[in-house]
Amino acid sequence: MSKIEMKTPLVEMDGDEMTRIIWKMIKDILIYPYVDLKSEYYDLGLVHRNETDDKVTFDSAEATKKYGVAVKCATITPNAARMPEYNLKEMWKSPNGTIRAILDGTVFRTPILVKGITPFIPTWTKPITIARHAYGDVYKNTEMQVPEGAKCELVCTDKDGNETRQLIHQFDGTSGIIQGLHNTDKSISSFARSCFNFALDMKKDLWFATKDTISKKYDHRFKDIFAEIYENEYKEKFEKAGIEYFYTLIDDAVARVVRSEGGYIWACKNYDGDVMSDMVATAYGSLAMMTSVLVSPEGVYEYEAAHGTVQRHYYKHLKGEETSTNSVATLFAWTGALRKRGELDNTPELCKFADNLEKATIQTIEEGVMTGDLYLLSTLENKQKVNTEEFLLAVNERLQKLM
Ligand code: NAP
Ligand code: MG
Repeated sequence: MSKIEMKTPLVEMDGDEMTRIIWKMIKDILIYPYVDLKSEYYDLGLVHRNETDDKVTFDSAEATKKYGVAVKCATITPNAARMPEYNLKEMWKSPNGTIRAILDGTVFRTPILVKGITPFIPTWTKPITIARHAYGDVYKNTEMQVPEGAKCELVCTDKDGNETRQLIHQFDGTSGIIQGLHNTDKSISSFARSCFNFALDMKKDLWFATKDTISKKYDHRFKDIFAEIYENEYKEKFEKAGIEYFYTLIDDAVARVVRSEGGYIWACKNYDGDVMSDMVATAYGSLAMMTSVLVSPEGVYEYEAAHGTVQRHYYKHLKGEETSTNSVATLFAWTGALRKRGELDNTPELCKFADNLEKATIQTIEEGVMTGDLYLLSTLENKQKVNTEEFLLAVNERLQKLM
């Protein structure tokens, strides 16, 4: 069998620890034998980030803009403990944060569903994708504790020096707290466009919710920007695709989500997304089955797993012990990127390969072959726990039959 050709490279961002081990296994066992892989390789492993003063992260993001598609391995975000471990020059910033800022993108997280692993909310038979706005609000706040008797005002000084003031609160008889938040029309618009593009791409409905009845200027601005961009740029495309944009209040959204069967994209403001993405991920069962894609408003895609580098398993691996680490989300990052490359380059064989690889992976788990994390959750009767490599070999057996 001849290998599938790629017309354009995708950007490959290698990473750290156990996921770096898995990365190589995936390529060796499931990609190289089938695809003549064209990739522009960037090593975002912490050792190389440190050697390049983190330049490699910036370069990989610029390359992603150029080629339009990237696949990323999980990477260490250094903390104090990592400084001596990797002999770091600096506590380098999170690569994901850097890449997201350069692409101005939104992160969409989608769980992979398999038979035998029932969500905690059993009606969720289809995935719910969460899109979290990753700029501003309480994450870039200014806050103060204020003494009794203080008068606190919101002051805006415009370009010409004119002041507008509004009373926040007169703290009579008690001390208290205040907080200043902001967001920008530019960031909200980028968020909206990323969400509308992704909904069209996935052919799924898009839900958005805020608390605009209470927050009549701040949250209302989010609602208005979404509505305006939808009307002017996306309404016709949505109608053609047979999908819907649906706005409601955040509390109503939560109630509807719990009662739903899933199958849509739920766009959330920053804080809502922080909370709801953990809720949704937990309810679907396993972080190791959660995929993540960063989508820019111009339609650049970076695929990855939602989990980290699985450090504890890596230390076992270094000691020569057997690991049973789940590679599914990392594998789906590869299939996502290859399919997108195939769509953009008009190479249907590549899309077909990505479909088959996903099918083989799900089939493997549904036939009872799985890693330890899923073994604990699965209700299948004939289940079998395998190690990290055995799982990928079992996927390959099934993939061969599909090709
Ligand atoms: P983690 O790597 O996601 O792992 C947390 C725990 O979840 C693991 O110890 C493991 O539980 C379980 N787990 C996660 N993925 C799994 C998989 N594929 N297969 C089986 N079990 C899995 O998070 P962390 O330990 O908090 O962070 C480790 C490093 O990853 C940190 O340096 C952090 O900065 C980085 N990180 C990177 C990204 C990214 O690049 N996108 C995201 C998050 C964290 P058990 O140990 O109980 O088996
Ligand atoms: Mg959170």
